[in-house]
Amino acid sequence: MTAADNQTFGLVCGHHHLYSSLARGMPAPPRTPTGFQEILELVWWRLDCALDLDLIEWSAKLGALNALESGCTAIVDHHESPKAIEGSLSVIADACAEVGVRVNCAYGVTDRHGPAGAAAGLAENERFLSSGGRGMVGIHAAFTCSDDTIAAAADLAARHGVGVHVHVAEGPADTWQQLRGHTADDWWLVHGVHLPDDHDLRGTIVHNPRSNMNNAVGYAQPRRFTNPVALGTDGIGADMLDEFRVAFVRAREADVTVTPDVMWDWLATARSVFPETTGDIVTWTYDVMDPWRLAYTTQIAPTEVVIDGEVVLADGRPTRVDGDEIKAKAAEAATRLFARL
Ligand SMILES: [Zn+2]
Repeated sequence: MTAADNQTFGLVCGHHHLYSSLARGMPAPPRTPTGFQEILELVWWRLDCALDLDLIEWSAKLGALNALESGCTAIVDHHESPKAIEGSLSVIADACAEVGVRVNCAYGVTDRHGPAGAAAGLAENERFLSSGGRGMVGIHAAFTCSDDTIAAAADLAARHGVGVHVHVAEGPADTWQQLRGHTADDWWLVHGVHLPDDHDLRGTIVHNPRSNMNNAVGYAQPRRFTNPVALGTDGIGADMLDEFRVAFVRAREADVTVTPDVMWDWLATARSVFPETTGDIVTWTYDVMDPWRLAYTTQIAPTEVVIDGEVVLADGRPTRVDGDEIKAKAAEAATRLFARL
């Protein structure tokens, strides 16, 4: 990917939820979720309601730091915090800028909290994009939105010349048909597990294999789509080499003839959002950054990361921020979050 065998361009996480960085270690839900809908209701929709701007800031800083420590220099983020909507995207953008990682922000609008909640989400996307923020317009998912909300989000995105970042057909109840007629090539369609092969949605499909397995929603079989395919983590860190390996073995489980260059190409797709990452240089602890080797080689880490000409990770440690301090402050924030849950 670059001149030296032990280097790559900056890796891009095609779908992240930086707000979930503090969730690790959270109290168990009131009862064990038995399916995807209950995982949303009992885990994620309780967590996002507990977020305030301070918790969002530390969660984003921790997530950005984890990304940098994994050689990921750019994140396509999807955010929701129903009790702290206004200003939330700027908090995330500022947190990532402080660490030195690129981010594309979107607020996932939804009618789960009534028309006022949907309007506030649209307003936050509008505020952020109008103030020069780098982002897309977010929609949580079609099945939690009215047709009017979807149309308003699509219109807002078109007016700003950006795509829409939306969860699509992740679980069986996550319907996608309402999106028909709205999509465009710059839309960011996340999951697509239950999309039919001949769906007519336009945009990039972002595959999140580890998350899909964790939620038992099924295998997306992304090779069946004619859309471009990118890789994301859906909030489970930003170690894209790891996600590449999971994508590879998940594909092999279904078809043993698959070769890892397919997933290696998926890793590069999200560069369409961050073309400048081809100027970011990551130097790794491993000598030959080749797909076949990397598919079976774990424990590879970056020693140096250069973003926009600046060394932001040296000897495996961040140069702009105190990584230990971020981790300590994030742990304090997590304690506060858990108390609310
Ligand atoms: Zn997601």
